[in-house]
Amino acid sequence: MTDYPQLCMIIDGERVVAGSRRTFTVRNPATGEALGELPLADAADLDRALDTAARGFRIWRDSTPQQRAAVLQGAARLMAERADDLARIATMEEGKPFAEARIEVMMNVGLFNFYAGEVFRLYGRTLVRPAGTRSTVTKEPVGPVAVFSPWNFPLGNPGRKLGAPIAAGCSVILKSAEETPASALGVLQCLYDAGLPKEVAQAVFGVPDEVSRHLLASPVIRKLSFTGSTVVGKQLMKLAAEDMKRTTMELGGHGPVLVFDDVDADRVLEVMAPAKYRNCGQVCVSPTRFIVQEDVFDEFVAGFTARAKTIRVGNGLDPDTQMGPMANPRRPDAMERLIGDAVARGGTLHTGGERIGNQGYFYAPTVLSNVPEDAAIMNEEPFGPVAILNPYRGEAEMIAEANRLPYGLAAYAWTADSRRQKIVAREIESGMVGINTNMIGGADAPFGGVRWSGHGSEDGPEGVEACLVTKAIHEG
Ligand code: NAD
Repeated sequence: MTDYPQLCMIIDGERVVAGSRRTFTVRNPATGEALGELPLADAADLDRALDTAARGFRIWRDSTPQQRAAVLQGAARLMAERADDLARIATMEEGKPFAEARIEVMMNVGLFNFYAGEVFRLYGRTLVRPAGTRSTVTKEPVGPVAVFSPWNFPLGNPGRKLGAPIAAGCSVILKSAEETPASALGVLQCLYDAGLPKEVAQAVFGVPDEVSRHLLASPVIRKLSFTGSTVVGKQLMKLAAEDMKRTTMELGGHGPVLVFDDVDADRVLEVMAPAKYRNCGQVCVSPTRFIVQEDVFDEFVAGFTARAKTIRVGNGLDPDTQMGPMANPRRPDAMERLIGDAVARGGTLHTGGERIGNQGYFYAPTVLSNVPEDAAIMNEEPFGPVAILNPYRGEAEMIAEANRLPYGLAAYAWTADSRRQKIVAREIESGMVGINTNMIGGADAPFGGVRWSGHGSEDGPEGVEACLVTKAIHEG
């Protein structure tokens, strides 16, 4: 059994423990029990982290691709070796089933290995110029990056936020969510143990608004990378704009799923019902609005409801569990508000719609249908275990509904018609589209959204590119 580690920040290579600082109590969402006390940064801690990040950048921008690759590959190997311990800590902190947490570790392993290859391909170019002159275009690391990662992928989010800047030759200050600190520290430790100089990556925690204001006010920080809600993303963009810092914003979504009547509904349900309840629906690319063609609607609702009822909800450390608790007490509260409002406005509740048990933050897998467009849940990201199923006449109405909201992160469509597959892929405004699949990510594929879902990509060559600036050098 993994012991929960002592919590700390890591600033200039030093493990900073609570002492007289304020603390945050980290809790297990399955039981509500306290796991540990997390020290929160004060202004002096953040200033020290900023000075260190400036030094770390000077060290790491001069690193060779071989050094960067060795660190990333070494960390990938260590994460794979420590997968069970890392996954268990993530489950204790966030609640997701252990098997899901383990997949997060392996996603980091794949991503770090991919980036280890990318560091050899950060090319510039030489332009055609007359003899005796030269014009070159180079790519340089953007500088120290402040990264903020949320609690829903306690290992995968910090992995993404650390891997790309390190591959690009930047230094990083990571503030992961205070709810899931030990997972983030576990990822960082793999990088240190693989030889990353301690000045290059640091971990701070704090009152989120204080930390982001302090770090983003500093000219040391050249880029902000944030994953979280659109509301907070907009606030942080404004802070970054004061100093014209580069940004990568991975924000919320409201995943539309178009289900046409030319597909086998059972096959769609087999993939998309479990996908809905993965991580209790607390996934930015979660399928949320099922936009179902009317001929298959009744069959689809019945099949979805039957499947939702069979999901085994419990402690994520129990191997039989298919869905854990929600990650924090804010989420069941949000479910009560959103589902209550949907039903009050005339939506039909087929199953769920209630908390489970009297400890932890459990909420039942829920299915709603015929929810009117003015219900809050039709417009606000629910970020919970609730599927919304509504009927539509045909292609044009279904595409219009998919594009109705200002979000555009992940969209899905199920159709056997090859012409329609291409139309839908083209017409839906979304950073990622899955046609007859829910697999929309990969180490080599850009992950990101458009419009209110943010901008910039993580993963793939685009993830490293986002941490580089372009310079043109003209020699006469
Ligand atoms: P929230 O909006 O307060 O926080 C979301 C994340 O942003 C958390 O990790 C939090 O630590 C961080 N954060 C909040 N204020 C910040 C600030 N001023 N500076 C820096 N970081 C800050 O809400 P929450 O209750 O934690 O989550 C609720 C909503 O957030 C969800 O409904 C969902 O829409 C969104 N969310 C999205 C993702 C994602 O993957 N895109 C992940 C987690 C949460």
